[in-house]
Amino acid sequence: MNWTEKDLAHIWHPCSQMKDYAELPPIIVDHAAGLYLYDKDDNRYLDAVSSWWCNLLGHCHPRINAAVKRQLDQLEHVIFANFSHTPAITLCDRLAGLLPAGLTKFFFTDNGSSAVEAAMKMSFQYHYQTGAPQKKRFMALSDAYHGETVGALSLGGVDLYSEIYKPLLLDIIRVDGPDCYRCPYGQHRESCHAECFAAAEDAFAQHGHEVCAFIVEPLVQAAAGMKIYPPAYLKKLRQACDAHQVHLIADEIATGFGRTGKLFACDHAGISPDMICLSKGLTGGYMPMALAVTTQKIYDAFYADYNDGKAFMHSHTYSGNPLACSAAVEVLAILREENILAKANANSRYFTQLVHEKLSEHRHVGDIRSIGLINAIELVEDKASKRSFDSKRRTGYQIYKQALKKGVVLRPLGDVLYFNPPLTITREDMDFAVRVCADCIGEVLG
Ligand SMILES: *Cc1c(COP(=O)(O)O)cnc(C)c1O
Repeated sequence: MNWTEKDLAHIWHPCSQMKDYAELPPIIVDHAAGLYLYDKDDNRYLDAVSSWWCNLLGHCHPRINAAVKRQLDQLEHVIFANFSHTPAITLCDRLAGLLPAGLTKFFFTDNGSSAVEAAMKMSFQYHYQTGAPQKKRFMALSDAYHGETVGALSLGGVDLYSEIYKPLLLDIIRVDGPDCYRCPYGQHRESCHAECFAAAEDAFAQHGHEVCAFIVEPLVQAAAGMKIYPPAYLKKLRQACDAHQVHLIADEIATGFGRTGKLFACDHAGISPDMICLSKGLTGGYMPMALAVTTQKIYDAFYADYNDGKAFMHSHTYSGNPLACSAAVEVLAILREENILAKANANSRYFTQLVHEKLSEHRHVGDIRSIGLINAIELVEDKASKRSFDSKRRTGYQIYKQALKKGVVLRPLGDVLYFNPPLTITREDMDFAVRVCADCIGEVLG
């Protein structure tokens, strides 16, 4: 058996109908450098989606590689209860100075979903221990995505992922969220006052008393198709949470570390959440690690004599893994020393212009939405009515397969094609990626 056959004999790939692999077998990646993946036959692929939004500074970055190798010879892993190490301490010390104000207490987990779970339990337990045990439900937006474990999946509002599991899931208060492309108020993202927050106001009025936390993906609902909404919505949400003693959990797993043009998406709105969840770009896309970061106030509600039973009894075996921390510390150093964000922002204007220039005229390009280096293209059957294609046509998937042949990884979300590349993408690679995207749309849709 060759590698592909052995893979198919044993491996169940994530988020995949394995039958599709009969026609499109997995690409066996041999090595990677910068923005490119290289397969066994030395074909190269531009990683325009940052390997599921986690690769931040390119693959096999010399500085991150060196940092992890140094750490590997020093300490690979250690129990994180009662033990600690300088990579974790350094990381938290530096991040505390970069996060929205007040987020100073760091809880480590080992993937994004588990950071969301930790934040949920923390919020529930906080209210339980501070005289508000009736606050035990969660609010989340329509089209939200917060991960795949049962708690995190409950918060999600994308049926593709959660529909079948509904009998297992928590009873969430679902709030109709912003939908700027098909805005029911006929407004525009650049000029509106988040009129659509009215739905959240109603939900707070009805349920605020029984809610411990509202979780939100600040500014970009990524898994929903890179749906972007204005900072005004977040400001209103912060105020409503305060008015109803509801924690605001910012899930910045996808949006953190410069993806939106600022270090964190909350910074666009100038708000501080009560908890923030981080992962993906945190380690530059090197290692599974995540954080639920919270405030002194919430931390203090758990701080008591042991026999009071107030501790947060939550743990993951690989909490605070030193290798992952060493990668994360180096990522922060590179971001600062190499002025990455400023350079990315200068390039992002070029990128967005290019995407508009090459794609907006196409008769099936309904919407182009952009923030930072994220540029998403929603394909529709009919532009005037914004009618989507029948999802059974799998239009996005056809384009994805076509783009792979031309050397670009453009894995879409349904019929939303998007670029969410490492922050270090060059203009030359932008030209290449957008050209391939335009060509493939043309080939598949005429
Ligand atoms: C990816 C993602 C998660 C889940 O993280 P995993 O590491 O895949 O479990 C949660 N929330 C958001 C916004 C994400 O993009």
